[in-house]
Amino acid sequence: DPRIAGISSAIRVIPNFPKPGIMFQDITTMLLDTKAFKDTIDLFVERYRDKNISVVAGVEARGFIFGPPIALAIGAKFVPMRKPNKLPGEVISEEYSLEYGTDKMEMHVGAVEAGERALVIDDLIATGGTLCAAVKLLERVGVNVVECACVIELLGLKGRERLGDRPLFVLVNAT
Ligand code: 5GP
Repeated sequence: DPRIAGISSAIRVIPNFPKPGIMFQDITTMLLDTKAFKDTIDLFVERYRDKNISVVAGVEARGFIFGPPIALAIGAKFVPMRKPNKLPGEVISEEYSLEYGTDKMEMHVGAVEAGERALVIDDLIATGGTLCAAVKLLERVGVNVVECACVIELLGLKGRERLGDRPLFVLVNAT
């Protein structure tokens, strides 16, 4: 798609953030580019409209930027998947491993029902641990995760493998 090049070039790479040796993919510059931002949302909407998706689950924090406009455009609800102790109601939580240590993701009980069809969205997949935790939370309550979607896939970290059979759709590859 000819729109991909514009999206890709609007993403800034910041070396040594948040620590030495990391090449951080910064999507905030893409949000400043009205065409690139709109093209990003449009590409997801074109893919997921008419797929009977009733839930867009967005992963904190940057999944909260891309998820809501997609949800509104395809007529789905938006469900935030959050870091621990942020959601005020009753939650279910899923622990996942990081490079050093573990983290947790939480979802409100009652936000989704068994049998619903969900899209899980985040800005970027690296090791896949974060997306995988979101998928597991949804699957634990009987939701069918139709696909995971990210703006960027960091290649070489096997994040896609960690997702197993669940399809992953990305717009831009990075190394
Ligand atoms: P994973 O769990 O796949 O290893 O890491 C993905 C998570 O870390 C995502 O929630 C993503 O927002 C964040 N992340 C890791 N590296 C980067 C990066 O270079 N740029 C951005 N924007 N997010 C990153």
